[in-house]
Amino acid sequence: MTDVDVEVIVIGAGPAGSTAALFLARSGIDVLLVDRHQFPRSKVCGDALIPDAIDMLKNIGLYDSVYKEGFSLSQFRIIAPNGDSILLNGSFITIKRILFDNLLCNAAISAGAKSAWNYSFENCIYENSKYKVEFHDNLNNKHYITSKYLIVATGANPLPLKNLGLLKYLRPTAIGIRRYVKAANTFEQELIFSYEKFLLPGYAWIFPLGNGTYNVGCGLFLHRNNNRINLHDLYNRFVTESPIARQVLSTAEEQSFLEGAPLWTGFMGSLVGNGSILVAGEALGLTYPTTGEGIGKCMKSGELVAKAIIAHRDEGYCRPASDLYQNLLDKEIKSKYLPYIISQKWLKYPFVPNMVVKQANKNESIRKLLEGILKEEVEPSRILSLWGLIKVMLRIT
Ligand SMILES: Cc1cc2nc3c(=O)[nH]c(=O)nc-3n(C[C@H](O)[C@H](O)[C@H](O)COP(=O)(O)OP(=O)(O)OC[C@H]3O[C@@H](n4cnc5c(N)ncnc54)[C@H](O)[C@@H]3O)c2cc1C
Repeated sequence: MTDVDVEVIVIGAGPAGSTAALFLARSGIDVLLVDRHQFPRSKVCGDALIPDAIDMLKNIGLYDSVYKEGFSLSQFRIIAPNGDSILLNGSFITIKRILFDNLLCNAAISAGAKSAWNYSFENCIYENSKYKVEFHDNLNNKHYITSKYLIVATGANPLPLKNLGLLKYLRPTAIGIRRYVKAANTFEQELIFSYEKFLLPGYAWIFPLGNGTYNVGCGLFLHRNNNRINLHDLYNRFVTESPIARQVLSTAEEQSFLEGAPLWTGFMGSLVGNGSILVAGEALGLTYPTTGEGIGKCMKSGELVAKAIIAHRDEGYCRPASDLYQNLLDKEIKSKYLPYIISQKWLKYPFVPNMVVKQANKNESIRKLLEGILKEEVEPSRILSLWGLIKVMLRIT
């Protein structure tokens, strides 16, 4: 793969990178999608697509294939630390990331994007008005590709951003762990979010994938005082102490190891870019605080980064592409994060989920607000803020 020259290199073929490559290829732009892994590849995740991801799939015409390969659910259950629970309506698809990410990158390839697997990005230099980008293959041989634009969509791996001088925060903001199990299909119709006291403001989950397969995991948001956390222990605590986990897992066979991964949330990742180097997806910190869901937002950033490049060419390269991209991010997604950052702060107190679940069980409009939060029709701070909680307590929402 030496001496290749393309207009855009996208590094990382996760939801952000593949969506960017798809939009660029559909606009007739010469784009190369590179990943350090061979695709299809697995990715540690809860495997749940919430409405923002489903909307993006409809937008790019991929909903039907994901619907066919995935498992559809119309309910979710929130379990409070005191064990009370509420069953709510919503629309979700679960699908293993090995399948989902492959569908997405194949769509980009079908649209005309080139691909190269098993090449790890190392660094780049700017010379002769182009980026000369260095990759290493599995045998540690160096390869160079030149391009006008570089999209960095390398997820939670901070090294590429560090090498490019774009890393803003040194530590991830959350960590998660999950395992696949096969069990009886007792809870196959609902996504379960269990707010265990020892995980707050994080949570544990049991997400069915169909045919008795479940993705079971837990996630923790990091702060200065929980440096020495052992997530394996917390997972084991969840599966042995939680009544619902015990019920689901009583007949379970393990189908995978327990695997963990970091998350970068709340726009706390890297700088947006520099010139024609642009950062998309989780590398930018685009996974949501409070929920840890990121696929939809990372796909959206893929669309926006492609739009910024297209606008940059159309405008005749007069403003830096990174400025155009920053404007699009500010206009379309940045404001969505603050309410989630605020909500996460409230969720660390067990009385908050306890009270919200209790009151939602008694009051239809609080129940509707909770459903609206996952549909992104209602900001979470409508409930998880001082004023929101007072209103929930008095049931005057
Ligand atoms: C435990 C856990 C549970 C989660 N559950 C959910 C969920 O249920 N729903 C949801 O919406 N979100 C969930 N998320 C968040 C979600 O996984 C991320 O938001 C999403 O994967 C980010 O997409 P991305 O394309 O930015 O990065 P990624 O999906 O991480 O893709 C990045 C790609 O870059 C490649 N790469 C990295 N470094 C290099 C390099 N140097 N050279 C070449 N390639 C490179 C990687 O191989 C990878 O393929 C979860 C995350 C975790 C950790």
